[in-house]
Amino acid sequence: MADGIVGEFLSLKADSDADLLAMQCGDFYEFFADDAETVGDVLDLAVSQKSSHGSSYPMAGVPLSELTPYLKALVERGYRVAVADQRETDNGEIYREIVRTVTPGTLLETTDAAAQYLAGIVAAGTVATGDDNTDGPYGLAFADVTTGRFLLTEVETIDDAHAELYRFAPAELLPGPGLRNDDDFLSRIREDLDSSVTLHETNAFAPGRATHAIRSTFGEETLDSIGVDSTVAIAAAGAVLSYVDATGVGVTQSMTRLQAYADDSGVALDATTQRNLELVETMRGDRSGSLFETIDHTVTAPGTRLLREWLTRPSCDRAALQRRHDAVEALASAALARDRIRDRLSGGYDLERLASMAASGSANARDLTSVATTLSILPQLADDIADTELADSPLSAIVDRPDRQATEALAAELEAAIAEEPPATVTQGGLFAYGYDDELDELIDEHDGALEWINGLADRVKRQYGLTHVTVDRNTTDGYYIQVGKSEADDVPDSFTHVKTLKNSKRFVTDELAERERQILRLEEVRGELERELFEELRERVADRSALLQDVGRALAEIDALASFGTHAAKRGWTRPTLTEPGTIEIEAGRHPVVETTTEFVPNDLRLGGDRRLLLVTGPNMSGKSTYMRQAALITLLAQAGSFVPAREATIGVVDGIYTRVGALDELAQGRSTFMVEMQELSNILHSATEESLVILDEVGRGTATYDGISIAWAATEYLHNEIRAKTLFATHYHELTTLAEHLPRVENVHIDVDERDGDVTFLRTVRDGPTDRSYGVHVADLAGVPAPVVDRAGDVLDRLREEKAIEARGGEGSEPVQAVFDLASGQFTTGRAEAATNGGPAGGDRETDRQESNEKKSNAGLDPEAESVVAELAGIDVNETSPIELMAKVQSWQESLEDTGAEPPDRSG
Ligand code: ADP
Ligand code: MG
Repeated sequence: MADGIVGEFLSLKADSDADLLAMQCGDFYEFFADDAETVGDVLDLAVSQKSSHGSSYPMAGVPLSELTPYLKALVERGYRVAVADQRETDNGEIYREIVRTVTPGTLLETTDAAAQYLAGIVAAGTVATGDDNTDGPYGLAFADVTTGRFLLTEVETIDDAHAELYRFAPAELLPGPGLRNDDDFLSRIREDLDSSVTLHETNAFAPGRATHAIRSTFGEETLDSIGVDSTVAIAAAGAVLSYVDATGVGVTQSMTRLQAYADDSGVALDATTQRNLELVETMRGDRSGSLFETIDHTVTAPGTRLLREWLTRPSCDRAALQRRHDAVEALASAALARDRIRDRLSGGYDLERLASMAASGSANARDLTSVATTLSILPQLADDIADTELADSPLSAIVDRPDRQATEALAAELEAAIAEEPPATVTQGGLFAYGYDDELDELIDEHDGALEWINGLADRVKRQYGLTHVTVDRNTTDGYYIQVGKSEADDVPDSFTHVKTLKNSKRFVTDELAERERQILRLEEVRGELERELFEELRERVADRSALLQDVGRALAEIDALASFGTHAAKRGWTRPTLTEPGTIEIEAGRHPVVETTTEFVPNDLRLGGDRRLLLVTGPNMSGKSTYMRQAALITLLAQAGSFVPAREATIGVVDGIYTRVGALDELAQGRSTFMVEMQELSNILHSATEESLVILDEVGRGTATYDGISIAWAATEYLHNEIRAKTLFATHYHELTTLAEHLPRVENVHIDVDERDGDVTFLRTVRDGPTDRSYGVHVADLAGVPAPVVDRAGDVLDRLREEKAIEARGGEGSEPVQAVFDLASGQFTTGRAEAATNGGPAGGDRETDRQESNEKKSNAGLDPEAESVVAELAGIDVNETSPIELMAKVQSWQESLEDTGAEPPDRSG
């Protein structure tokens, strides 16, 4: 190993588990060797060579004051970065020591408004047996070091755990032992979340140690008082705490409130549904175009975080939702008062984060001024509300909730304490306003007096000695000095000691000036020390009030989120939904909350429940089936988040869960879903949904061959109807399903209307009762500009297939037509020569025989080896086990190999 500074770097690095090490060397943080190359690449830093003891190493550095943005950038790219600070021993030896490790979940310096969660998850199976058994229940803990929020819970199934993880979208996840070896778990995390996964030491997850960690952070009685007896939840929380400790963030102090939560009053909303409904990001992973982004008009970071939480965690608590609706109603109609409130709120800062910074000791004087400013918004808001038509709304209760006297007292204390424009550092003095502390005031007076003497010195010297070119100034090398112009430099009295000659002047000191200088330096030192001490005390007093800060912060966030609902309702003409007992959902002239912002939207009605529990939604491709169903789910979700809804009128019997599934083919664009996943998801719904749930199935059963899919869809429909009785919307392209309405009492058909005139199709987007009569795929092809001969021929083929399920394949110039029989069972065509097929005839003949015959014909025809191998491969493929993407790739490779052998490519000209 290398010696010297690089050696020290490498040995510190070896002892840490970080990906990168930033080591302080004087005024810089340096990265050496491989780390230098990495940061050079990632951050575009210049990499130079450092020679150390005969070897040369790459080196890259950033100035001390600029480390933070670089750390953020590295951590956001998923690196864990250890930071080593320079220290000095008593006898002046310099060494370095790792003071913290910055990771995605423990980055204090974030400027992003979004919450930044560090999550832990533990499986009961592992805790009980000590091995890799990952059976549930599961303990989950979520900590946000930037706000001090700390939540824990226990959930039954792994799907529930995924739903929670998706909701919190943690920046970093600590899987407990067992789960960290579970490929299924980890691959779902990788697919659904952007979390970086960290393996924290196994011991930290042990229930005994975890309990101890929680007690020492939150107090002995905490677990009893919040009623947590879940071993796994405790294990997860303990691991999170120990990780925060191990990374040296030092913010456990700000984690004042451990909150246990159970999602009893919440609407079940699994990860797939949150994704399908595009609540916080679209299927493509963009924020823009999501429900949240569309309706978010919050003006503060805590308000933004709360709104996101309400949308991803809708509630069944009708009384609480009614209060939100009351507030939104008042706000939506009071435009002026609403603007005033939002104006007020936007003058504040992120109290939750400031509380956390005060606790971790990183808050400076400006931060405490921000605390004061934000605290004093509360009484102002309370007055605003009391003075307007909002006085009778639930907003009054929200602003009255925090202790108003304590709030005003702390705001006043801070305002009186901190100087008008304090510096950004806490070491250089000038933090406090005059009058805050007697001792400090005395020092300031004395200091001012000494300065005054110095400020008057130049004039006194001029007067006393009859000089004209005299200035008094200070610099770091010479201290204070009297500067006299060259022409008069020889006229100074003997008491002046010469210190320096410049081109046009000379500098002198006197004994008295030196004495004053010593006085000033001493005063500055004492003052700096005193201010620092006083500031730490003040900051601690603020940290002690972090519960108050959190209360006020929460109240402001609620007002902000409600005002956002109100603003959007007013802007888009949304209406207040009526919440009733679980039962029916009735929507009159409903719209899709996101689509309506970008299109001329055609409103639609929906009545679901009672004897119309399961609606089969049919209609041509692109007619609006998916939109209609998602719109129903989103209106229900918005109502149960406390928002107004895009509809002329909506009566929502509250639902206990929303489940949505999209058939594999529709997800093809995402390149993720296979038929297997689709079936797993369907199975989850059939297990979890209840009579009070809303279920949306969009083309489920599509990811497989025709008859398989139709059978599954049929059986699932019956089960949902007979056993679960959930309110269900089921879009399907299987026409056969529409006959179910005749057999099952609570199944009805609806279809999306299209207007067809002279062979042209116009999508009307209006939903009507009854099934569609035919498929409009061919017309869509026409609209899409497919050449006319192809469209005509397709129409012909369609008619023939409907009637007799057989069609002649036209080979073009000179070749004989071939009879093709569409076999519904396999979803494939079998072919034979037209004359041969006429013998049996597809309608009356035995299909098995036909197929054998046609196979023989093919062999007789003597296929070349390439084609034979393609046919063999085709026969051997298991459609159910192969994803659509793989199938497409296969077909492509077959086409290529056939083209290679000179076989006729398919005739695409029509
Ligand atoms: P489907 O599921 O039937 O194939 P989609 O729901 O995906 O159809 O809708 C197809 C297109 O029509 C989308 O671009 C959508 O924005 C638009 N659309 C759907 N419903 C409406 C409506 N009621 N008003 C206006 N545009 C709509
Ligand atoms: Mg669709």
